[in-house]
Amino acid sequence: KLYNQLQDLKGSIRVYCRVRPFLPGQNNSMSVVDNIEEGNITIITPSKYGKEGRRSFNFNKVFGPFASQEEVFSDTQPLIRSVLDGYNVCIFAYGQTGSGKTYTMTGPKELTEEGRGVNYRALNDLFLLSEQRKDSFSYAISVQMMEIYNEQVRDLLSTDGVNKKLEIRKSSQNGLSVPDANIVPVASTTDVIELMNLGHRNRAVSATALNDRSSRSHSCLTVHVQGTELTSGTTIRGCMHLVDLAGSERVDKAEVIGDRLKEAQHINKSLSALGDVIASLAQKNSHVPYRNSKLTQLLQDSLGGQAKTLMFVHISPEPDAIGETISTLKFAERVA
Ligand code: ADP
Ligand code: MG
Repeated sequence: KLYNQLQDLKGSIRVYCRVRPFLPGQNNSMSVVDNIEEGNITIITPSKYGKEGRRSFNFNKVFGPFASQEEVFSDTQPLIRSVLDGYNVCIFAYGQTGSGKTYTMTGPKELTEEGRGVNYRALNDLFLLSEQRKDSFSYAISVQMMEIYNEQVRDLLSTDGVNKKLEIRKSSQNGLSVPDANIVPVASTTDVIELMNLGHRNRAVSATALNDRSSRSHSCLTVHVQGTELTSGTTIRGCMHLVDLAGSERVDKAEVIGDRLKEAQHINKSLSALGDVIASLAQKNSHVPYRNSKLTQLLQDSLGGQAKTLMFVHISPEPDAIGETISTLKFAERVA
């Protein structure tokens, strides 16, 4: 029985690896990826980084550079559907800046129908499925969108600027860990697109001083689902966090100072706190160190217990990125 419990718990954390294709104009003759099979990826480590060789990593799934958004989503679908059954779900995009996190979660800059990422597809799926169940359940779906920058939580759906700092509450009664962030009911994908645009605009506004703050903050789209069974009146709640994490690249302490160094330290701290939480859940440790970052505090109710976690780790194919690629794969291996 204990074994089954262990298996269940282990099964609730999944790690998928996705390799970005070369971008137009890049020299595409030298990928660091040697081979991809179902759940295994082999990387070539060039001699520049020590001894030349090959290293293999195992994950629940590996998506190569030609995997479509639809393919990537279809392996995520069962998880998303479980939200309607009252499960809490966290989906993360991890990787260095430029490795494809935002592409996976949101899509490319010039958004097309096929380009749409996990966020949009997830909500679309929730709408479709709740429609299919409408004879037995009535569902209410609403969303919040937040950003964590320098260990401060901000509301991306506020209509009067984003500068209010928000507090995280532990297990508040209505199931909201940030009750003061705007929560907006949604009924269709049109509503969702509008909100995402507002969120992106708010994020851009706050990026005045620094040119690309988006890669140095975590952004989180939280979907709250409440289902009422029509015959019994019983309600169930599920919640899903879709998180585009800050870039995982290490900065050289000798090269950055001031604000940039502070940002880097905050990112470093929160990503390692996340790694520690997931690793200790995977190992079934009795103490899970949620308190060490705002990110893990925010997601506490949706990490561990009955909750399901999926981490997409992203890597770039270029030899120049090999140092970060290996550290990303090692991070992922630790939580897998
Ligand atoms: P990140 O969010 O990790 O910084 P992006 O998602 O912005 O990275 O990706 C960097 C660039 O690579 C963007 O121009 C993006 O459109 C492109 N890109 C990323 N992943 C893919 C992919 N799977 N297929 C095609 N283009 C991609
Ligand atoms: Mg991004």
